[in-house]
Amino acid sequence: MSCECGGAGGCQGGAAPSETTGPTPAEVTMASAGQATMQMAPPAIDHSAFDVFNPPDPSLISDCVHCGFCLPACPTYQLWGREEDSPRGRIYLMQEGLENGPMNAAMVEHFDACLGCMACVTACPSGVQYDKLIEATRGQVERNGKHHRSRAENGLREAIFQLFPYPDRLKALLGPLKLYQRTGLSSLVRKSKILERLSPTLATMEAIAPPVTRNVTIPEVSLPRTAEGQALPVRSRVGMLLGCVQRTFYPQVNAATARVLNMEGCEVVVPKSQGCCGALSVHAGRAEEGEDFARRIVDTFESAEVDYLVVNSAGCGSTMKEYADILANDPLYADRAEVLAGKVRDVTEILVELGPEAPRHPVADAAGTNGDLRVAYHDACHLSHAQGVRNPPRELLGQIPGLEIAPIRDADTCCGSAGIYNLVRPEAARELGDKKATNIAATKADLVVTGNPGCLLQVTDALRRRGEDTLPTAHTIELLDASLTGAGASDLLSR
Ligand code: SF4
Ligand code: SF4
Repeated sequence: MSCECGGAGGCQGGAAPSETTGPTPAEVTMASAGQATMQMAPPAIDHSAFDVFNPPDPSLISDCVHCGFCLPACPTYQLWGREEDSPRGRIYLMQEGLENGPMNAAMVEHFDACLGCMACVTACPSGVQYDKLIEATRGQVERNGKHHRSRAENGLREAIFQLFPYPDRLKALLGPLKLYQRTGLSSLVRKSKILERLSPTLATMEAIAPPVTRNVTIPEVSLPRTAEGQALPVRSRVGMLLGCVQRTFYPQVNAATARVLNMEGCEVVVPKSQGCCGALSVHAGRAEEGEDFARRIVDTFESAEVDYLVVNSAGCGSTMKEYADILANDPLYADRAEVLAGKVRDVTEILVELGPEAPRHPVADAAGTNGDLRVAYHDACHLSHAQGVRNPPRELLGQIPGLEIAPIRDADTCCGSAGIYNLVRPEAARELGDKKATNIAATKADLVVTGNPGCLLQVTDALRRRGEDTLPTAHTIELLDASLTGAGASDLLSR
């Protein structure tokens, strides 16, 4: 192993980790009155790369028996074939970090290179909770290893987190973006490849930005009704998360979600005060920021008094289901977060739980589909691996008459979107996107659907890069909406 972390590939467990000393997480986190700001830098654990605030748990690390079954499932191991870029290698590095500090550049590099896709969690026969391990480790990198990243990368990350969790700031970009796209400047810039020479991140941002669509206003409360507008009895009162990227770039997905829920007998409550759910922050190790966002969501939906909290963005849903863990050290919020987390459902989960009542109509009304519609369903990692939601989307699609689901080869492998990954690791993300696009194209599908806005952006761009501009993409719920309303899929197919 040439890696400077030393022993990442060779360490087989070894000595017990250093004892945790100093204040507990509760003591270093000021959790009173809804304030969760770190008041002081937590002290380091002796001889360790980590501080005392939520280091990777040694007992979770020791669950790994080093069998290597997770390696073939790991996208970064597939790309580079290096032990230290595999789940097992990263777990070695965590062990190494617990025993031998300070944090070094190689540790930061290999932890940062992890997509957080959780394919390893699905693949591991020993039930290793890599999700918990990497989340704790990312927080440590943010506090103790950032100086090993380039200034440019730290600046980029800061800019991302000053923008993406704030829908108002994102919306402010829509005007200039629309102008850029409509004047043809976008085509010129793409042809010139100037952005790729200047910055792969800027080129990625430019490439994945979808065409700006008309905003859709969703009422704060909408009652159950049929596609024809007749009132229905209330089967459930559900809250709906708008999401930051979803509401900005895909407002029609939120509109379709509310419509489908209404048609299936749900009263839908969409509080205007809702902000970011904290998913991006939590997944990037910005724990305090993520906790603050989570508290606001708890406040908002608690007062909405809903039976369920419905989410149509895989990354958001997986984080919101973890609110009990995220706010466990906050005495004011721990119990309330647990209650709310228990109500969180992906939109496909709740629809399957409720059972179909609205009639399903065929959607294959467009020319070129030969009466049937062949649909490739792309599993978002934060839906399939992180939440274990695989069957509900397929079950819902299977309810649509004349629809055939085309399996995608290597469906369990990440498309490269992975939260902010395609912005901070654009080259690796592009390679994964290209592989995914090749596998999707091989399905000969008429349409690709998925349950996450990040995947939609990434897959759409990868297909375009491959020259598959004619293979449209949509959110799963948009296709179900087209079936329930009877509108058909022609709008989706002409994208
Ligand atoms: S499959 Fe599980 S136990 Fe085996 S090396 Fe990977 S994480 Fe460790
Ligand atoms: S989360 Fe994904 S990228 Fe990270 S180690 Fe696991 S499989 Fe590999």
